[in-house]
Amino acid sequence: MDRETREAVARARRRLDRLDLYPRPVGTRYLRVLVVPWLFRLPWFRRFDGYSAHGTILLRRPLGPYDDDLLTHELCHVWQMQHQPLAMPLSYLVRGYATNPYEEEARRAVELTRRG
Ligand SMILES: [Zn+2]
Repeated sequence: MDRETREAVARARRRLDRLDLYPRPVGTRYLRVLVVPWLFRLPWFRRFDGYSAHGTILLRRPLGPYDDDLLTHELCHVWQMQHQPLAMPLSYLVRGYATNPYEEEARRAVELTRRG
């Protein structure tokens, strides 16, 4: 991870640290942030700019100066998976995307922490 990405992750982590959604703070020590534009050309991924898997955040393009909200959203998904490693991903199969409670929680986390 380059320095700018590391700093962006640290900013996102500080935002999530202000919330008490889960018992342990989000862990970023083993986090990977990868830019994989080709992935986001596939049908399922086309609608996203970022996507989180266990311990990994995938991005459509390199982080820019206005992407802190995006990164905070994706890091919140990492946090969710650190606490609910099966229930969280499975919920997308059961509940779909738009009204998924984890999705709503990640959006709320961004809104609640947007201002210092
Ligand atoms: Zn999301």
